[in-house]
Amino acid sequence: MREVADGVHQIALVPRDGINAYVVGEVLVDAGIKGSAKKILNAVEGRALRTLAFTHAHVDHVGGAQRVRDALSLEVLAGARDVEAVQSGTPVVADSALGGLLAKGGAFDGVAVDRALREGDEVAGFYVLDTPGHSPGHIAFWRESDRTLICGDVFFNMNVFTTVPGLRWPLGLPTVDPERNRASGAKLAALEPETVLFGHGPPLTGAAPKLRAFVERSQS
Ligand SMILES: [Zn+2]
Repeated sequence: MREVADGVHQIALVPRDGINAYVVGEVLVDAGIKGSAKKILNAVEGRALRTLAFTHAHVDHVGGAQRVRDALSLEVLAGARDVEAVQSGTPVVADSALGGLLAKGGAFDGVAVDRALREGDEVAGFYVLDTPGHSPGHIAFWRESDRTLICGDVFFNMNVFTTVPGLRWPLGLPTVDPERNRASGAKLAALEPETVLFGHGPPLTGAAPKLRAFVERSQS
């Protein structure tokens, strides 16, 4: 694990920061794919974790959760509008034939949610923000004191095909409502974060102008 903001550690679950989880105090944010559980358990060994919070209900964020939750007896938190998908292991997808296929391919082992999160809730010193679009109940975590943002998949900071870092919108197919996600992206950019931590891609520092430019570019 490496410290990427004060008291925040990144667990890169695949090479080149392709899928990330984070440890914030006693909270694990996201749990990778099914095969990530062992890596997470090794990384957090010796730490007292109490809580597992998801940015959203997709297979690459919840997939490893069941095993990690069971091993560490964690309380599970998820955005209110993603609770059902986290529990059933079935992501919400766009309403189309392709969407149906994606739902099958994106299925994961569901986990029971102990508490639903809503905007304004507090998790380990971070403020919960509703950021729907990539999934209906997608949430981000924001700490104003040092302007650190855990943005989940509202933005990617890599090209997932080439692994080259750089700001991008998430892949279109698994994103339920791309337009809403862009609105959530604009909301996050307006916070002027200093450090942004992504589900996919390396941390971004000095982030505010880069994020603003990216969002403005995609509105024109
Ligand atoms: Zn993802």
